[in-house]
Amino acid sequence: MLLTLGWEELPKSISVYGAPDDEIMREPVPGVLLELDGGWLLLDTGFNTALVRDHALRRRFFPDLEYLPVLPGAGEPVEEALERAGLDVDAVTSVAVSHLHADHAGALKLFAGRVPVHVQRRELEYGLSDHPEPERHSIFRCDFDDARIDWRLADGDTEIAPGVTAISTPGHTPGHQSFVVDLDDSVGGGGFVFAFDAADLTENIEHELAIGGFIDVEPEATVEPIRRLKALAAAKGYRLVPGHDPHVWPALTTEFENRFPG
Ligand SMILES: [Zn+2]
Repeated sequence: MLLTLGWEELPKSISVYGAPDDEIMREPVPGVLLELDGGWLLLDTGFNTALVRDHALRRRFFPDLEYLPVLPGAGEPVEEALERAGLDVDAVTSVAVSHLHADHAGALKLFAGRVPVHVQRRELEYGLSDHPEPERHSIFRCDFDDARIDWRLADGDTEIAPGVTAISTPGHTPGHQSFVVDLDDSVGGGGFVFAFDAADLTENIEHELAIGGFIDVEPEATVEPIRRLKALAAAKGYRLVPGHDPHVWPALTTEFENRFPG
């Protein structure tokens, strides 16, 4: 099940390196909910609602108007999305985050002390590093510096659940990971590769265009993970799904609703 946990209005140059700054895109904030034996695995959690709704916190964390996140409802987007699917937050038995950006790790507070949370070790080390750099890159320590979180740290490609493999795709952030999801034969088999922010848009994939957000690497270095994901997807015959594409995400959400009803 695909979730849209909000929207963010961003200059296209954040998604595609070299794109015009004055072209503003409204991009969905993605989450993926996967049914496992005995529970659900949530990939990415959306924004920390407190940082968006509290005006003083919002001023600190989102000083630029054009980056102002839009939340879908009045409550917690993850809980509301689960509710619409007839699920309680307790139905989520594990969580994985692609990376620690504010629009992906912001609702870890809902799962701290409750379920295991998968992340790349490199990503957490960077996020918890002392210098002010992570916050300047929209990695907000308050989202994940919580001793109650039951971290499951990966060093590179790792199967995090049967049929779900984290693929190390650093560049966007130092420990970014994408996910290969193999679907069970009972739902028709096949699968998907979820790039998340290794490739925001279809054009990053189709034209192998560098992404505009990267940490500690040259922009060109973000193309290598895209090629790797393309090769993985091609080898398996899976679709490679970009993380923030305003057309692909809603279309695939509908497709999933039809293919995996209630
Ligand atoms: Zn990101």
